[in-house]
Amino acid sequence: MSGDTIFGKIIRREIPATIVYEDDLCLAFRDIVPQAPTHILVIPKQPIPSLADVTAEDKAVLGHILITIKQIADQEGLTEKGYRVVTNIGEEGGQTVFHLHFHLMGGRGMHWPPG
Ligand code: 5GP
Repeated sequence: MSGDTIFGKIIRREIPATIVYEDDLCLAFRDIVPQAPTHILVIPKQPIPSLADVTAEDKAVLGHILITIKQIADQEGLTEKGYRVVTNIGEEGGQTVFHLHFHLMGGRGMHWPPG
């Protein structure tokens, strides 16, 4: 199941992406415009527009995604030095693709606050 966004097309393999992990609930692939040496997007296969749209029924998939992010960070060798996980929500949050996604970024020092 997937929504009508570019990420839905990636889930359905209608456009290519460098996929690093997939299971029944989620997909992880490299960002096309990486903002860090490692920049991976982790998304539910279910087409939830953003974190603002989740409900209690999404508890299992959200927990699964966070644990998956931790596992991918381990596999990518990011855990020792650290990394950042971000989800942008809505216009002022800087969201451009309205299919919930978590940015996993690492491989360089991060700054705070972000822009
Ligand atoms: P947002 O701004 O919504 O938080 O993040 C959307 C992200 O999706 C951006 O970092 C952007 O580079 C990435 N992106 C947009 N289109 C594509 C695409 O077709 N393929 C991949 N791999 N990433 C994309």
